[in-house]
Amino acid sequence: MHFLKQYLDAFVHLWYPHICLQCGTDQLEKQDVLCKHCINALPYTDFENKWNNPIHKIFWGRVSFYYANALLFFTKDSIVQLLITELKYQQNKKAGWMLGRLMGYYMMNQMTSDPIDTLIPIPISPSKKHQRKYNQAQLICEGIQSITQLPILEDLLIKPSELASQTHKDRIRRMDAIGQSFLVEQAYKIKNKHILLVDDVLTTGATIEAACTALSNAEWKNISVFTATYTI
Ligand SMILES: [Zn+2]
Repeated sequence: MHFLKQYLDAFVHLWYPHICLQCGTDQLEKQDVLCKHCINALPYTDFENKWNNPIHKIFWGRVSFYYANALLFFTKDSIVQLLITELKYQQNKKAGWMLGRLMGYYMMNQMTSDPIDTLIPIPISPSKKHQRKYNQAQLICEGIQSITQLPILEDLLIKPSELASQTHKDRIRRMDAIGQSFLVEQAYKIKNKHILLVDDVLTTGATIEAACTALSNAEWKNISVFTATYTI
């Protein structure tokens, strides 16, 4: 059986070569999109989990997070930009899972003083999800989950459609009136929990802040944020 699988893998590789996005070598793990060398050479922020790190500072005066961090620096024309482009526009789900696994390893080492209970992916609009077929933040959460075993609450935070269903119409009118862009369903699921908001890119923090506003009435214990990349 093992031999047959190796044979099939070699056959598939011949027709669909699996190569590192950065350097082109075919010496990489099946589940990755970069080889070990290129993974090690990624521009890690190495921000410590201190209250005055640059990610916390983005939210000063807006949201008080327990942990606020980003794994990689996002710069133009870099391998990180390519990873995000692959993830969002080229249907390359492996890029998301790989980023998530790297975040998972980081969490196991660095986010231990008050462990996370639940992962919450930042949702995208239903029209974008329809187009892309998936939410990239959900894939990142799945990568984190494969390392940490933490549960993912995919349907807790909801971005309503522009063409909202009748059941939500009144709520959405109220949300518009107060400038709110997310709905929260089944908030009891995060009662007394340390929740972690997860997204692919952090720029101004406006989306994350909007998610926190929507979650402000839920009785969570602590709230944190961790994104795959941070735009500088
Ligand atoms: Zn490489």
